[in-house]
Amino acid sequence: MAGILAKTDGKTLLLLKPRGFCAGVVRAIDIVEHALEKYGQPVYVRHEIVHNRHVVESLKAKGARFVESLSEIPPNAVTIFSAHGVARIVVNDAAARGLHVLDATCPLVTKVHNQGKHYVAQGRMLILIGHAGHAEVEGTMGQISSPVYLVQTEKDLESLDIPADAPVAYITQTTLSVDDTRAIVAALHRRFTNLVGPDTSDICYATQNRQTAVRELSKRVDTVLVVGAKNSSNSNRLREIATEAGIPSYLIADGSELKADWIQDVRTVGITAGASAPEVVVEHVIEALRRFGPVEVSTLPGREENVQFRLPAELRVEQ
Ligand code: SF4
Repeated sequence: MAGILAKTDGKTLLLLKPRGFCAGVVRAIDIVEHALEKYGQPVYVRHEIVHNRHVVESLKAKGARFVESLSEIPPNAVTIFSAHGVARIVVNDAAARGLHVLDATCPLVTKVHNQGKHYVAQGRMLILIGHAGHAEVEGTMGQISSPVYLVQTEKDLESLDIPADAPVAYITQTTLSVDDTRAIVAALHRRFTNLVGPDTSDICYATQNRQTAVRELSKRVDTVLVVGAKNSSNSNRLREIATEAGIPSYLIADGSELKADWIQDVRTVGITAGASAPEVVVEHVIEALRRFGPVEVSTLPGREENVQFRLPAELRVEQ
């Protein structure tokens, strides 16, 4: 076991592994930082590069400007698409405006786009399992030229106007609960006789690993704190998984949000972090816990992650 499980008259804090940044988030942040180094300030980023205020503020301080619309960006400016991906219309708009684009879309999100295009090219009707309004879902739907049917819950299948024997395929948002997705896929198989789709355990290694780990953690702790932003899909799923396991679980953006009544009569607290939450914020939450009394921290063993994604060619420093 990595780390020592120590007890005090205070609380035991179990840090979960893996937690926090995934390879897609590291790559997206690196793209902004390398672009700033190479091209100087400002560089423009469409949408939050990843869903975390601390990351966004720190990049702002280095000279990045965050916008929601390309119309806010001057011609020729360096423009970075966020890790969540963008619709074709955004790509085309950027080209029409003469922007210098660097694409920080996570390669695993791009893989979903390509899966969707592949299924449509086979003549299949396409279902996307995901959450309406999320940037990744909007990007994925906008990457596919044919209509995409969005399914958020099993109940949504009832209103799908697709014949049972039609050729159908599904793709999924990368950060969904693996269990929920599996249940929806099972319902799709009951509904459609000619259905194909990717293996749900092969959508995103980081989502899968963090969800598996929090499920295990929930067996050992009295409460779970998930460090992450309110608009972070993968962080919300981590909190839901702990809650479904019967453990009080809270999504916490940083230490300032920690509430005394969450941890009052609790001996063992588990901490994990969403894929877009920096480790410095986890440390901030631990400091906040210490304000309520002594805390002994230990790290649980967990799956090693060695995934790395390459930077766009123009930002690579050749050795
Ligand atoms: S959670 Fe998965 S899909 Fe999303 S950015 Fe990280 S590696 Fe990519």
